[in-house]
Amino acid sequence: MDAKAFDVSTESTPKELLIADDSIVYDAIVVGAGVIGPCIATSLARKGKNVLIIEKSWAMPERIVGELMQPGGVRALRSLGMVQAINNIDAFPVTGYTVFYNDQKVDIPYPYKADIAPLEKIEGLVKDGNDQVLEDKNLHVKDYEEDERERGVAFVHGRFLDNLRKITMSETNVTCLQGNCIEILRNEKNEVIGTKVEIEGRGKISFKADLTFICDGIFSHFRKELSTTHIPKVESSFIGMALFHADIPAPMHGHVILGSDHLPIILYQISSVETRILCAYNSKKVPSNIKEWMIKNVQPFIPKSLRAAFDLALIDNKFKSLPNSYLPSVPNTVPGMCVIGDAMNMRHPLTGGGMTVGLSDVVLFVKMFGDMDFSDRSKITLEMEKFHQDKRSYDSVINTLSISLYSLFAAENDNLKALQKGCFKYFQRGGNCVNVPIKFLSGTLPNPLLLSKTFFAVVLYAIITNIQEHGVKGLPITLLQAISILLTACKVFTPYLYREWAN
Ligand SMILES: Cc1cc2nc3c(=O)[nH]c(=O)nc-3n(C[C@H](O)[C@H](O)[C@H](O)COP(=O)(O)OP(=O)(O)OC[C@H]3O[C@@H](n4cnc5c(N)ncnc54)[C@H](O)[C@@H]3O)c2cc1C
Repeated sequence: MDAKAFDVSTESTPKELLIADDSIVYDAIVVGAGVIGPCIATSLARKGKNVLIIEKSWAMPERIVGELMQPGGVRALRSLGMVQAINNIDAFPVTGYTVFYNDQKVDIPYPYKADIAPLEKIEGLVKDGNDQVLEDKNLHVKDYEEDERERGVAFVHGRFLDNLRKITMSETNVTCLQGNCIEILRNEKNEVIGTKVEIEGRGKISFKADLTFICDGIFSHFRKELSTTHIPKVESSFIGMALFHADIPAPMHGHVILGSDHLPIILYQISSVETRILCAYNSKKVPSNIKEWMIKNVQPFIPKSLRAAFDLALIDNKFKSLPNSYLPSVPNTVPGMCVIGDAMNMRHPLTGGGMTVGLSDVVLFVKMFGDMDFSDRSKITLEMEKFHQDKRSYDSVINTLSISLYSLFAAENDNLKALQKGCFKYFQRGGNCVNVPIKFLSGTLPNPLLLSKTFFAVVLYAIITNIQEHGVKGLPITLLQAISILLTACKVFTPYLYREWAN
């Protein structure tokens, strides 16, 4: 892996990262080396394409995003032959979720491998066992390869990115460049033909390619090249802290802490010593005094075993916040350009599905386009419509689930509170009441119709629970409430599923 990997840990940029050739036309240029860029670049290079990948900074980033990867994401990495990027970074296995509601909790393990579709290995990408997890300090081959259930993984985001980037750098067909892309170039037919890049010591240089991938992430500058109306909607934020040596109530599980009196809190162990906590805040502008807000609105609801680590983190006073954006996909209609990853499509991070969606899009893209000639821009653009149609079964499930679950879990009115309680009680029934929802969340069941059926089964259960709790005397009111709960449920689910399929 190290043959061509440059040392980007030093303060000055390694000169190898500044010397891309601007006199040739690449098969593909990839803008951005976050999670998706390196996967696209590596996959295409393994398919024999000459690829240039451009990143603002190849130094390890420090971000609170993309730290829990669902089994669907791990499976996509296997299909691409890049799963070993999760190895040797002190990553932690994830075997399922535990949902806390007031003083109760329910465990939701990840699905059985036998219950989901078999894994696809992409020809030319998977070789020499690169679809298999390696043995390391925390991740064991036997657990990932032989256990009957799927596994996810959690890690420090920057370390994972570093590994992905090293894999990309080691590909002979890839040139890695450090620079800031400042413009997307078009020809007289309005086709995208490359990008202009500002490079340290070289100035502004134009690079040309048959196909330019826009993978510049959440705050994408270039998604507007596709459409000026392709703009994310932001209604909430996550405020994050790092807890150290926390006594985790449900080891190896993602934790979702819910309650009738607070917004959702999520938590997962990302290394042997560090646990990420993300606290929802219902506005894109976070409170001016975050510590005070945390003490009042989060601290009282933290499980006892976590309090010591949580209180120390509060004293440390290091908070990071990010907006939670929603952006449904639109078709890639501009010849010569493919927008992918968060630049194209975003959902609520509550369910940790972003990397899984982006990686599964890469898998589909390489399967559909990997062996095609990118210089035939009109043919590629025609096929892009099919790509858009095909990827929606997968993406729409994770995206819609994330938004509607957030509405329930951050319940702002009595109807949503009844749905939140009903949802938790539904999980408590066990069996298929947890086995099916976890398949959607883990990215292993791309079936929007079944998602709708399951969502409305939860709604019905919430209505029945509400009626049972109030008894015969309360019947006139609870029957009226039933209609109101049903309408609320339709409002937090149907428009989002519709939007996922409308374009
Ligand atoms: C608070 C929060 C928590 C999240 N938690 C999870 C989680 O637990 N699990 C999960 O699966 N997903 C999570 N996500 C979503 C996940 O982080 C994204 O889906 C994923 O990072 C998208 O990858 P990407 O490659 O599209 O973009 P990014 O990872 O954002 O990468 C974009 C890259 O482009 C580079 N770039 C940008 N502009 C330029 C330019 N002009 N020139 C050159 N380079 C440029 C950037 O430096 C960056 O490296 C979370 C999101 C948020 C907001």
